[in-house]
Amino acid sequence: MPQKLTKLEEEAIKLLLKHQDKGLLQSELWHKLGVTSREGSRIAIRLEKKGMIKRVKEFAKDRWTRRLVPLIRRVTIDPIKDAPCISCPYNQICSIGGVKDPRSCPLLEKWIIESYQAHKAQMEKKIENREH
Ligand code: SF4
Repeated sequence: MPQKLTKLEEEAIKLLLKHQDKGLLQSELWHKLGVTSREGSRIAIRLEKKGMIKRVKEFAKDRWTRRLVPLIRRVTIDPIKDAPCISCPYNQICSIGGVKDPRSCPLLEKWIIESYQAHKAQMEKKIENREH
């Protein structure tokens, strides 16, 4: 079930999603949100209770603080934007066990295999670039 967020919690999540991989130090987030550390701590604790972030202890700028790391991810349609179903004339009648069934669709199977191969090649190239 979607979590109900206050305006400030929503703003905090938007900012944290811009730093999806490493998160932000809590003081950096308070500064960007324009709130006091007390109010900011409350927001972080509530977001952690809702399972949307984790608060990781970290020694930074000469003292112990918390890094706020988002546990949710920004979702885009990029991975499926080229899927054949989007422009398929049968997509209104296609369903599991239906007249047209995605489990036996050659177009969908071809797209999945090609997407997987393209993704795999991209990852291998990234790894290769890191090693050199
Ligand atoms: S699974 Fe195949 S038939 Fe069904 S909508 Fe996608 S492309 Fe069309």
